Amino acid sequence: MELYELSLEQASDLMKKGEITSVELTRALLDRIGRYDDQIRAFITVDEANALEQARQADERLAQGNAPAGCGIPIALKDLICTQGVKTTCGSKILENFIPQYDATVVSKLRDAGAVMIGKLNMDEFAMGSSNENSAFFQTRNPWNTAHVPGGSSGGSAAAVASRFCSAALGSDTGGSIRQPGSHCGVVGLKPTYGRVSRFGLVSYASSLDQIGPITRNVKDAAIMMNMICGHDPKDSTSAKVDAPDFTTALGEYDTHGLKGMTIGIPREYFEVEGIDPDVASTFEQAKHVLEDLGARVIDISLPHAKYVVAAYYIIAPCEASANLARFDGVRYGLRDTSSNDLIDMYRQTKSKGFGQEVQNRIIIGTYALSAGYYDAYYGRASKVRTLIMGDFNSAFESCDVVLSPVAPTPAFKLGENTDDPLTMYLSDIFTLSANMAGIPGISVPAGFSSNRLPIGVQLMARRFDEMSLLRAGYGLEKTMALGPAFPTL
Ligand code: GLN
Repeated sequence: MELYELSLEQASDLMKKGEITSVELTRALLDRIGRYDDQIRAFITVDEANALEQARQADERLAQGNAPAGCGIPIALKDLICTQGVKTTCGSKILENFIPQYDATVVSKLRDAGAVMIGKLNMDEFAMGSSNENSAFFQTRNPWNTAHVPGGSSGGSAAAVASRFCSAALGSDTGGSIRQPGSHCGVVGLKPTYGRVSRFGLVSYASSLDQIGPITRNVKDAAIMMNMICGHDPKDSTSAKVDAPDFTTALGEYDTHGLKGMTIGIPREYFEVEGIDPDVASTFEQAKHVLEDLGARVIDISLPHAKYVVAAYYIIAPCEASANLARFDGVRYGLRDTSSNDLIDMYRQTKSKGFGQEVQNRIIIGTYALSAGYYDAYYGRASKVRTLIMGDFNSAFESCDVVLSPVAPTPAFKLGENTDDPLTMYLSDIFTLSANMAGIPGISVPAGFSSNRLPIGVQLMARRFDEMSLLRAGYGLEKTMALGPAFPTL
């Protein structure tokens, strides 16, 4: 087995035993990035010098014994997670040269554990998109077939993990951006409960929906990453004051009990969604049977307001975005246009040149929907719908522990196929948006392939703070569904 093939867990074990070093593993991954990333284009920044220095320090800690889990593990970050001294662009021209003065809390936690920060990953500008085609810099490609998108907005993260360029990655999920690219690239993506992971140092898109989470090669690695990044943070006022469990114990629970005692709900409204690809539908059916075979009881449930989720999300998210992105005005951060002679024109020119089309569209939608006279009709109503969606899940979780659904209606589409059709693009989020609206956790687990060999995942969602059930059921699925080669040949 080549070094780059090792999962996070395997690499960590071998390092602890002294059979491999962090420097060797980091070098192997950097070599692989050097050889293949011009084909995939997952990275905006590869931080070779710092990564090797961090790996050297990790090896010293490992040699002393009692190094924490994750020490020496090379991890890459979506480029909207602030890294002190390392460019953080958000996939945008407006932050093209922005170098943060501080680390995001998740980055400090990874550093404390001795992880190695190998680089920063491409994304849709300010996390707005479902395909990575909105990056201001270049298009990341799906490693299973480079004519296809990797999904978005954390497409760089999912493509990097699938390509075996890093042991694991962090992404962010506002409406599906961890789970959907995870599904399209054949890797595991976990969106934690809102408040579980600190957002301090995550550049905000829609603050009430955003959550950082892991993208990994398997479910066990997702649990290990969760152990490293969760916990209350006084620097984030929305961070929950709850203790984080040892997430890996969920897998032990599966090993001893399977899924006995677990009830899985299938929302009947999801069968009414139009345009579901037949391979997605059959993968979903297979996953349902596997969960049943593993001992779960599968029941029919109802989420009556599911049909309004896309409309409500595409009001709430742009409203919050329009407020959050107001700070990029050419005065405080990033790009400033110097051609104008007065302040108002400087604002106008900076934003016109710095923001791409999709970001400008959303700022305009959000500003309009929040303006006097329209607030109640749009933002106010969308917020009421959001409350109804939360209520739907609360009722559903009275009779089931986990909700099963597809991740996206289709496997990864071709580059350019939907760029002129924002509605189709927005509808591709139909299964993932609700978890963000309700603040509940969701995981996408690889479950099959389309007839043209593109990966297809399924999604599991659970009660707030019950990531343990997701990991347990996800682990069962992963162990049981035979998927052939686990990573693409580059
Ligand atoms: N595709 C959705 C959007 O564009 C979700 C993005 C995300 O989760 N960051 O808003």
